[in-house]
Amino acid sequence: MINFNNTYASLPNSFYEQETPALFTNPQMIIFNHTLAKELGMNVENISDEELTKIFSGQKILEGSKPIALAYAGHQFGHFVPQLGDGRAHLLGETNGFDIQLKGSGATSFSRRGDGKSALGPVLREYIVSEAMHALGVPTTRALCALKSGETILRQDGPEPGGIFTRVASSHIRVGTFQYFAARDETDNLKTLIDYTIKRHYDELGDLETYKEKSLGLLKALIESQSDLVAHWSSLGFIHGVMNTDNFSLAGITIDYGPCAFMEEFHFNKVFSSIDRNERYSFFNQANIAKWNVLRLADCLLSFIDDDQKSAISIIENEIIDLFNKFDEKRMKAFAKKLGVTDYTSADNSLIMSFLEYLENESMDFTLSFRNLPKLFNDDLNDYKQTAQLDEFIQNWKRRVKSADHLDKINPIYIPRNHQVEKAIRLAYEDDFSHFHELIKVLSNPFKAQHQTDHFAQPAKKEERIYQTFCGT
Ligand code: AMP
Ligand code: MG
Repeated sequence: MINFNNTYASLPNSFYEQETPALFTNPQMIIFNHTLAKELGMNVENISDEELTKIFSGQKILEGSKPIALAYAGHQFGHFVPQLGDGRAHLLGETNGFDIQLKGSGATSFSRRGDGKSALGPVLREYIVSEAMHALGVPTTRALCALKSGETILRQDGPEPGGIFTRVASSHIRVGTFQYFAARDETDNLKTLIDYTIKRHYDELGDLETYKEKSLGLLKALIESQSDLVAHWSSLGFIHGVMNTDNFSLAGITIDYGPCAFMEEFHFNKVFSSIDRNERYSFFNQANIAKWNVLRLADCLLSFIDDDQKSAISIIENEIIDLFNKFDEKRMKAFAKKLGVTDYTSADNSLIMSFLEYLENESMDFTLSFRNLPKLFNDDLNDYKQTAQLDEFIQNWKRRVKSADHLDKINPIYIPRNHQVEKAIRLAYEDDFSHFHELIKVLSNPFKAQHQTDHFAQPAKKEERIYQTFCGT
């Protein structure tokens, strides 16, 4: 039994379009996440794989499910697009408060020129990376199911096998959802969205009465959750790649695994995405972009904050901008924790920066350089390039930190390295899913060194390196 309710579908009509997933005559199950299904309270024990395949390819719509495509707008790479929306996704409904959404399930009214489909590669990538993020403790959408759609679809490099992904999210409300209604001057819908968002994510704001209070409350809550999130990403070397406002969640979760990647050689301004030509979404710029995205939500709420735009802006300046230092503070705090500093103050910034600068100067692997810190602490320098900068760091570090023994619980050994993810996809295209399954297993336990899996911990060899990632949809 899978029970659905449809709180989003009970919102006014302009929030979504009712849509039916496309017909797929031969979808095939690759993986179903039974652990997650259990967490969601789904009872799928008595449902056969064949039946699950039908359900999660949109071929069988369960009683109570009302598939819809959500409306939203967004700033893409700084440029506003007043209508984006789910062009290749169907929200089946909610289970236990979580959205159950199919991706790659066919065209909708929001598809524009797209085919509404997804290639198998991005489906597998999202499955691997989102589940890895969850295991690493990062708030994220989850992966419930990945299927081969049974179709061949046309992409930039020619025909590719199609895939369908089931994404689970605490919601799909984005800054872009607010922008959709603000761009249309639909004040009542904005109010409805504010109330819905507070009800779904921010219980603590439930007693606020005026839309001024609610708007300010929401902005502050978003700063809190997104500054946590970006700090978490930073501490893992994660680069999202497309932090457009339509991919910026009001629930503070990581959403949309397109051209994302975990950095190997450390560089402050590292970029992977082929479409990010101006380093807008580079590793270290993510905190700035998050602030920019919060301000785009503020734009939408301005008229609730004060009738007079000037006063509204000055209220935002006084009440919101000051909080922006949380983005930088939490990020530094997260790095401090990785070095073993538990009582971070801004005086630690120079210690943190000196280590990161060393990593950048020597092109060191980000993940392993932190993972090997306990050895470094015990004077085993084998994993590090020995430079004067390193010596100086060690001296200052040992003055500040008394032990590095506990750091294995903070600094993971396994992250989804790009070449491993690409290998899983490459083999899957030859119908060999063994590497995909093995990778998922290793990444489900990222802090514990696992027997015979040392190669998963190693950075790409020169010939295996991936320099650019692509949206691939
Ligand atoms: P994303 O890059 O996944 O954030 O998507 C940005 C926008 O493009 C969203 O409105 C998507 O629904 C739309 N989109 C992406 N791929 C497709 C596709 N294959 N067909 C239709 N719309 C798409
Ligand atoms: Mg998106």
